[in-house]
Amino acid sequence: MNTMDILKETGFKVTPQRRAIVDILLKNKSEHLSSEEIYDLVRVDCPEIGLATVYRTMQLLDEVGVISKLNLDDGCIRYEISLNSKDCHNHHHLICKNCGKIMEAKEDLLDNIEKEIQELYNFKILDHDVKFYGLCENCSK
Ligand SMILES: [Zn+2]
Ligand SMILES: [Zn+2]
Ligand SMILES: [Zn+2]
Repeated sequence: MNTMDILKETGFKVTPQRRAIVDILLKNKSEHLSSEEIYDLVRVDCPEIGLATVYRTMQLLDEVGVISKLNLDDGCIRYEISLNSKDCHNHHHLICKNCGKIMEAKEDLLDNIEKEIQELYNFKILDHDVKFYGLCENCSK
């Protein structure tokens, strides 16, 4: 099944402008783009698009559950697309405090921690969101 079929199945109406936005997200899968950055990239092929359309589309994609948001508390929300809901949660982020670079840690080592917390606090964990802050290889030289 291709991307647009998956989206249609979620009830998302694919218009040419929305398709252009999804294409940009797919092409920049590991980039963690903000709405403004997505807008700048989409405008290259789709100059008539407005920033409001980008905001609205991101909101809709979020509602159908195919993007995840990354909030670094710097006032802008970054997005990444994950069409398979299973891989919506497939990595954690390493954020360089110096240059702002965002890397992805593919290993999820938190299952054991979740188990312990569930037992300790009698709390059913549904998800977690972890960010590691530090210095990237370049910045720690
Ligand atoms: Zn760095
Ligand atoms: Zn990511
Ligand atoms: Zn995790």
